[in-house]
Amino acid sequence: MIAAPQTNAFNPPRRILMGPGPSDIYPEVLAAQSRPTVGHLDPLFIGMMDELKALIQYAFQTQNQMTIAVSAPGSAGMETCFVNLVEPGEKVIVCRNGVFGERMRQNVERIGGVAVVVDTPWGEPVNVEDVQQALEANPDAKFLAFVHAETSTGALSDAKTLCALAKKYGCLSIVDAVTSLGGVELLVDEWGIDAIYSGSQKCLSCVPGLSPVSFSDAAVEKLKARKTPVQSWFLDQSLVMGYWSGNGKRSYHHTAPVNALYALHESLRKLADEGLENAWQRHSQMHQLLKAGLEKFGIKFVVAEASRLPQLNAVYIPEGVDDVAVRSRLLNDYNLEIGAGLGDLAGKAWRIGLMGYGARRENVALCLRALEEVLG
Ligand code: PLP
Repeated sequence: MIAAPQTNAFNPPRRILMGPGPSDIYPEVLAAQSRPTVGHLDPLFIGMMDELKALIQYAFQTQNQMTIAVSAPGSAGMETCFVNLVEPGEKVIVCRNGVFGERMRQNVERIGGVAVVVDTPWGEPVNVEDVQQALEANPDAKFLAFVHAETSTGALSDAKTLCALAKKYGCLSIVDAVTSLGGVELLVDEWGIDAIYSGSQKCLSCVPGLSPVSFSDAAVEKLKARKTPVQSWFLDQSLVMGYWSGNGKRSYHHTAPVNALYALHESLRKLADEGLENAWQRHSQMHQLLKAGLEKFGIKFVVAEASRLPQLNAVYIPEGVDDVAVRSRLLNDYNLEIGAGLGDLAGKAWRIGLMGYGARRENVALCLRALEEVLG
């Protein structure tokens, strides 16, 4: 027999999460998650799921019937889009301007698809002219994939223009909205987005581990017309839809993460109560406050003003400052988490998140005061 390990109950301190996610969770969302678990086919739960679907449709601004929350984090949402839509040998134009564009490329290649990569330097939005050239040069391409809000750099790309280009060249668009949903304008139907995924842990300020996903009718048609079965059983949307059909009848596919879905329902209710446009405006206002304070310390942004994400502020670490020492002091002395640089920006930048419930005046004030004290 292996002896039982000696452990204590895990009681984390209350941190203020101002990194790239997870973000601070609304107290009401944490409370919702601790409500009694019911069976995932319980009629009461099914009623809640019908509302949840309508709330996700609102957040995405879509009437797509295939709109669900994948029972896994944003990476599984990404995989859901690629694995269901792209078949071996199909060509995908993949825009890469940071870590997550590169992850898209890896998804395409693992499926046996052909990725045509359009690189834009880190810190810049996806270059629309380069994408147009790639579409022109690859008339056999079936998809255009890009990250709306690159969390690794803080750059916002022009999703509306990119999706219009995809349409013009007969491609379906696959859009990563993990960091953009709830934080900046995002209009799935109006912009003609075909497949989109997000994450619960960023501007929705929900517990991590769920990924809202939506497919347009054209994407559903593409899925139905597949010549090969989707190689992931769990992520195969044609199977999952039996559970999410929304017609009051749901059949077992996998055991839904019941309590996490209560949390998502509550966080999307908070978003609907505030109103999407108000939420976008709040993120922008808090970003302006933070920016004004950081600029007083001479701190510079990685991304040019026109394409800066309000919810993810990537800033250069001032010369001579010890990255790890500063972040440790913020965490230990102020219970404040800011993010390290990722990939090419590791050791060079900090990523300060103002996401969802975290995009508040008191968080901005705390972050500026703590940085002022720590940087001396
Ligand atoms: N895409 C982007 C833009 C992200 O920022 C992240 C996570 O930070 C992901 C995908 C992956 O999401 P997750 O970590 O929830 O799997």
